[in-house]
Formats: sequence, structure tokens, C-alpha cells
Amino acid sequence: MKKRQPKTKKAAAARYSPETKLIWGKTFTPAWDYSHHVIPPMSSSSMFRLSSTKRGAQGFVEFAHHVDNEEIKSRAPIYIYDRLGEPNKDLLEQNLAVAEGGDCAVTFATGMAAISALCGILLGTGNVIVAHKMLYGCTFSLLKNWMPRYKINVKWVDFNDLDALNQAITPATRMLYFESPVNPTMELIDMQQVTRIARNHNKHRHRDHYLYTAVDNTFATPFCQRPMESGIDFVVESLTKGLCGFGTDMGGVVVGPGWSYDRLLMYRKDFGGVLAAKSAWPILVYGLPSLAVRFRQQMQTAQIVAEFLERDRRISFVRYPGLDSYKQRTLAHTIMHDYDGKFAPGTMLYFVPKARTIAEQRRKGERFVNFVAKNSYTMTLAVSLGNIRTLIEHPASMTHSSIPPEEQIARGIDPGGIRLSLGLEKPDDIMHDLKRALNQL
Ligand SMILES: *Cc1c(COP(=O)(O)O)cnc(C)c1O
Repeated sequence: MKKRQPKTKKAAAARYSPETKLIWGKTFTPAWDYSHHVIPPMSSSSMFRLSSTKRGAQGFVEFAHHVDNEEIKSRAPIYIYDRLGEPNKDLLEQNLAVAEGGDCAVTFATGMAAISALCGILLGTGNVIVAHKMLYGCTFSLLKNWMPRYKINVKWVDFNDLDALNQAITPATRMLYFESPVNPTMELIDMQQVTRIARNHNKHRHRDHYLYTAVDNTFATPFCQRPMESGIDFVVESLTKGLCGFGTDMGGVVVGPGWSYDRLLMYRKDFGGVLAAKSAWPILVYGLPSLAVRFRQQMQTAQIVAEFLERDRRISFVRYPGLDSYKQRTLAHTIMHDYDGKFAPGTMLYFVPKARTIAEQRRKGERFVNFVAKNSYTMTLAVSLGNIRTLIEHPASMTHSSIPPEEQIARGIDPGGIRLSLGLEKPDDIMHDLKRALNQL
């Protein structure tokens, strides 16, 4: 059978919007093994039939060796074994690279597997990571507890203090790592400025010693911001959150420049943290194609709920990039926009109950969340985020508990802070449940 030639489809694809591409991706690609299916079947094969030792040998030669050979690029890849690559993940990765505007994407079993893989390919003994002072709890733990065992040290800096950031960089620094918006505090980092600082340092460096910038884009998802447009080198993301969207599967991805593709594949092959094909499938078939419609709706609800909470006198403050009171409002409008350029402040918000003391604030935060856990219909006490169901949690005692309490405050977490991830429920119903919880304060 003659393979469907991608040429005309590919040429046509250039005119369509990225939002449409979230649905179709690069459907016509040599990795597409199912030319009569509208929906790719869930690939469920850990090994692949090789018709001869010659073909098998060729597959091993070509694995993680992406030469600029048009002949190799235009034919179907030689699949060998799931840990090296298989069609569902390939299709998902091609879509994710398009969504983020990167050269390539490589998926992993979880967001943490993706983050550790990025550290793995960029860093070695004696290198230093300069990281923003506040990160997702497990990333914080990875950097603080595990990297030093490989003699990779971490310097914590406030990335909103650009002078401090610039001064923290030494020749041993190879990675600037941060989240924006920061989990859970909802601060933003000026990515263009971080890029500028890294490029200034790279002017005087040999290519082998480059300083790379990496941002965790889990909170915003590529629908709300594409960090590569600001010059960021690597984007990491948990697929478990907004990209999956329905809370059924875990996954992670590194999106990066073309040269990193083979290294990431090789790392994944040897360290083994592959995304299961059965988990790639729902993200490819349901998650990405519904991302725009889910997020547009959930953002609208987040805006209404943020304004509602801000009006309540029992709340000390609400942080949501869509609020007029948001401190980094100008920066939010510069970085956070959807594929049409419309302001896209995301689906996450953070708020703190009013209290006279730190202890009282913590008590109030816990009481609020516990009341919601017992009595609310629309909100569920659970970690994770970006889901179609509204989720609430208390970072100080849950997602960020790996950071000692006294350090939490210094790094910007309020003891009574509450993180809310807005879902698809009616805003009125969410506010009804919030009102009842507010009455407990
Ligand atoms: C959840 C999360 C991760 C980790 O992703 P997993 O898929 O749970 O491993 C990393 N960064 C941020 C910001 C997250 O919220």
C-alpha cells in the first residue's frame, strides 16, 4: 500500500491556527500508523515486529540519531520496543511541540520524571542550578534533597530581583529554573528578562558550557502562555494537570530545541521513565483537543470567583492575574495570552483569610478547607489542578509540606493560604459553596 503523502496536507497546515492544531496535531506524519482511522487506536504493544535482522539493526542505528536525512524523516519510523518509542507517544509529542511552539517534545511517566530528565541531560557533577526561591513541593525536594548527592548544588534566588539573579550566576551555573505562575503563590516571573540575563552570560561562554533557561508551564498550560516566545530554552510540564484535564492519567513532557531531542530519548531509554502508551492516548485524544474550550470556560469562572472572593471582607487578599488589583498586572498582560492574543490569566487562584496572627490565619485556612471537604458539592479537597472538577487544597500542609514551616513564610507561602483550581461547574454553584465556607471564618 502506498503511504499517504503528507506533502499537500503539510503545506495546507501552515495557514491553520494553533488552536485547531491542538485537535488535529500533525495527524499526517510518518509516525501515524493508522491511515484509515479518524481517531488513533490505543497502541498496546510493548514490542514491534521486525521483518528482518537488517530492519532491526537499522532501527537501532536510527534510534536517537536524528540525522538531517529527508528520506529517513519522510518514512514511517522503525518501532522496536515501547521504551524507545511507539506511535501514540510520537503523535502526542508532535502535538505538544506544536502547542508550545518548540522544536521537539519528549514525554515521560510523570511531570517529575520530565523535570528530573531535563536536569539529567543538562547537568553533571560540579554544576549549579539557580532556582527561584519557591517551587512545587516535589521539585523543591528533588533539587534540595537529591541533586546535592550528585554534587549538583542549588542556589535559591528571588527571580523577581533581577540583580540578585544576575549576581547568583557563576561559570558553574548551567540552568536557571523557575515556574511562572509560581505554584501556589501565583507570582509571575519576567521570562524575557530571565532570557536576556542568560544570553548575556552565554556571550562569553563556550557552547558546551551554556547556561540554559527552563520554566515549568504546568499552571498556565500552552493555551495561556508559550514561554518559548519569550526566548526560554526548555519548557517542562506535568501532563497530569490541565493538559490531561480529566484527572484520569499521569504524564510529563520536556519541550526543547532540536539538539536536545536525541539526548532526551536516550535518557528516557536508559533511565526508563516512559509514559505508558495507554496514558498518552487519552491526553492525545481528549486532553489536548479539548484544552481550548475547557480553559476558556474555566478562566471565565476563575475571573468571576476571584472577584467574588475579593469583595468578601473576611478575605485578606486574592491573587489572580486577571484581577485589577494583581500586583504584576502589566507583566501578566504581556506574557499570558491565548493563541489569538487574548489575555489568558489561567484557571488557578490563591487567597488568604483575614487574621490577626499567623497561628490564627493557619487555623482559619484549615477550617475553611475542612468545611469544604465535608460540606461542598462543587469543590473537592484534593491535590492536582487544571481539572474539569473544581479542586481546593491547603499548600502549607499538603503540596508544599516538604518545605519546613519556618521556611515557607520566608519563601512566600502564607500559613493560611488556600489554592483553588476552577473547573467546569457553574460559577454560581461554586460561589454558593464558597459562601457557606466563608461563614465559618
Ligand atoms: C504537579 C506538578 C508537577 C509534577 O507533576 P506530576 O505529574 O505530578 O509528576 C510539577 N510542577 C508543577 C507546577 C505541578 O503542579
